[in-house]
Amino acid sequence: MKALVKTKAETGLWMQQVEMPKMGINDVLVKVHRTAICGTDMHIYNWDEWAQKTIPVPMTIGHEFVGEIVDVGSNVIDFFPGQIVSGEGHVVCGRCRNCMAGKRHFCPNTSGIGVNRTGAFAEYIALPMSNIWLHRPNIDKDIAAIFDPFGNATHTALQWPLLGEDVLITGAGPIGSMAAAVAKHAGARNVVITDINPFRLELAKKLGATRLVNAAEENLADVQKELGMVEGFDVGLEMSGNPQALNDMINNMNHGGKISLLGIPSGDVDIDWNKVIFSMLTIKGIYGREMYDTWYKMSMMVESGLDLSPIITHRMHYSEFQQGFDAMLSGQAGKVILNWED
Ligand code: NAD
Ligand code: ZN
Repeated sequence: MKALVKTKAETGLWMQQVEMPKMGINDVLVKVHRTAICGTDMHIYNWDEWAQKTIPVPMTIGHEFVGEIVDVGSNVIDFFPGQIVSGEGHVVCGRCRNCMAGKRHFCPNTSGIGVNRTGAFAEYIALPMSNIWLHRPNIDKDIAAIFDPFGNATHTALQWPLLGEDVLITGAGPIGSMAAAVAKHAGARNVVITDINPFRLELAKKLGATRLVNAAEENLADVQKELGMVEGFDVGLEMSGNPQALNDMINNMNHGGKISLLGIPSGDVDIDWNKVIFSMLTIKGIYGREMYDTWYKMSMMVESGLDLSPIITHRMHYSEFQQGFDAMLSGQAGKVILNWED
């Protein structure tokens, strides 16, 4: 089968003929239909410092996908060929304290699809049945392909009650923009989103952000005044990884405000701890998605009318993957979908 592989320890990715995945008795074999390119894939493409210390070469990459079950292992009794499924990208151990307590997203022994184990940018992928999410009937396959980052957005946004709240999102990448959609769907009043890339801010608007802020040009205190906010944001979702963005957020929160941190900074970040203490902020780190409450909520939000389609800006055949990676590199893209169906 064909797969997109990091074959060399240098910038780039290569389409290769590789062996079909081997299936264990607890596994499900999926014929991949659509995949989406993630920021993580860009780190691997660019072969940055993180990728160099994390990714074994050769490695089939990719973890955002949807496909159709074509075979199941002998232990698998409740998934069937023909079902349309995605995969949770974190494979957990099932044996640690957190896994045993049903808190699988806290597993310290997680391995990542397309990072530590064979990925989904391929015609087929085999996954443990415990990592399979069965989609609702009639799901749009392009949307199903982005459930993994949609899950990051959902898990981060729904940490806190949002009804009637003023929400600040820093970073209008695909995940920040989808978080704007979730926050609006969940009943937030103001959904203010910041970025320094005007193309990305416009995408966030299409998804439901109510006020766009170019962080290079405007300051949040002025925006608060304009919106008639007197006490600061109730909820902050940090989705840029940028130290300045985090500090701007901390400086503009209401007392008792809640912050969830998804964005990954590239190094140490200084913050004013006095602000955290005297504003009595709660700050929570977020990794991945909840298995499988986040997935359930995503399916139900889509069924109840949440429209993520504007975040998909490019669709192409997998053989044109280079164009997809170039679009991501340009910064003028939301999600890029690769079609593996024919
Ligand atoms: P992305 O890189 O596409 O988006 C980040 C956005 O932040 C970009 O549009 C960028 O222009 C913007 N930005 C940069 N400086 C800014 C500033 N000063 N103020 C406001 N915005 C600024 O990333 P993404 O795919 O949308 O993911 C969002 C973040 O979440 C990334 O940092 C990513 O590494 C991280 N992430 C974390 C997890 C997790 O489990 N914790 C999972 C996936 C992604
Ligand atoms: Zn575990």
